[in-house]
Amino acid sequence: MLVVHKYGGTSVGDVERIENVTNRVAKAREAGDDIVVVVSAMSGETNKLIGFAEHFTKEPAKKEMDMLLSSGERVTAALLSIALQARGYDAIAMTGRGAGIVTTDSHTYARIESIDPRAMHAAIKAGKIVIVAGFQGVNKDGSVTTLGRGGSDLSAVALAGALKADQCEIYSDVDGIYTTDPRIEPNAKKLDTISYDEMLELSSLGAKVLQSRSVELAKKLNVKLYAKSSFSDNVGTLITEESENMEEVLVSGVVLDKNQARVTLRGVSDRPGIAAEIFTMLAEANIHVDMIIQNMGTDGSTNLGFTVPHSEHENAKKLMASFDHDIEGMDFDEHVCKVSVVGVGMKSHSGVAATAFTVLANSNINIQMISTSEIKISMVIDEKYGELAIRTLHEAYELDK
Ligand code: ADP
Ligand code: ASP
Ligand code: MG
Repeated sequence: MLVVHKYGGTSVGDVERIENVTNRVAKAREAGDDIVVVVSAMSGETNKLIGFAEHFTKEPAKKEMDMLLSSGERVTAALLSIALQARGYDAIAMTGRGAGIVTTDSHTYARIESIDPRAMHAAIKAGKIVIVAGFQGVNKDGSVTTLGRGGSDLSAVALAGALKADQCEIYSDVDGIYTTDPRIEPNAKKLDTISYDEMLELSSLGAKVLQSRSVELAKKLNVKLYAKSSFSDNVGTLITEESENMEEVLVSGVVLDKNQARVTLRGVSDRPGIAAEIFTMLAEANIHVDMIIQNMGTDGSTNLGFTVPHSEHENAKKLMASFDHDIEGMDFDEHVCKVSVVGVGMKSHSGVAATAFTVLANSNINIQMISTSEIKISMVIDEKYGELAIRTLHEAYELDK
């Protein structure tokens, strides 16, 4: 069997932990598997490198940032390979380029365009354990690119797809996907399976246990994906196609996203084209707008609200302040968060949203914005109630049962 393992930052956080990963890889090898290992940088390393760059300027060149950030993953790939060799295993460390990963040009947020797996196949055929530095590739000009934060998950899934691996196992410090972040709700339950679509919602709504682009790609390439812990031998969670019995589950999880800031525009002219003008301007400034709400206009004007990530809040503020027509006033709130309820079962059941609103009301939590889709409800609330809301919703949907 050909298996791709991916070890995240906490799993390779220091040499002892790399030793632990060495043991796990060795064990899988002894069991007869061919193994490709994707590694992240040691935990905290990427942030540390960003901090170094920001010591000099708040806006370092993205090409240079890719050169800098890609180094973190190379360190762990080389160390793991060295550790395996020291134990007598034949291992080889590769960069993204070495593994044949070609990406778009967009530095710090590149997309994978193609993978040429020949070098990896040759190494596997020669009996080697292949260790690949995650989170990176190379663009057509030959410069190194990175894939966005949490991007080693994406590297692992993409390699599993290109190698036609039997499965892809993502190892972190939790032994699977839980009904909510177990750090917030200790009564959270581990799920045996979850559908790609539900996982995609959980990830894009803020559950960082798997990067959302990696889940999207796993679904597209039909990669058999497991979330497991590098600190235990528990079975983990299988992320797979939706199955019939899954539909009986109404709600599969709740998610907290603290990375939200709210912008409210008051007295916006109620005319065709105004939303296009505002959101085109934000998009051109690379500001990622998340939730948007607009009311029916009265007396020729309306209110428009939206959220952006914290890091883009200042930029959004400056940009909106430069918008000198068609808006009467605006206010900004950095201290908000988004809580979401996810479940494929919502498709065929009503009342899920009403329950969420009721339990938040009973806890005296005011809902500032709401958005829904077929399989999720998201609500923006004051950030100080975020964790309370998660625990309250978790209990209301009996996710601890
Ligand atoms: P790594 O550094 O290995 O990539 P991450 O820190 O990105 O790992 O992801 C693991 C973390 O995700 C856990 O420590 C946990 O707190 C968090 N998490 C958030 N939501 C969930 C969830 N629904 N199930 C499991 N873990 C979750
Ligand atoms: N080291 C990168 C990050 O911290 C990529 C990853 O860990 O997946 O975002
Ligand atoms: Mg991660």
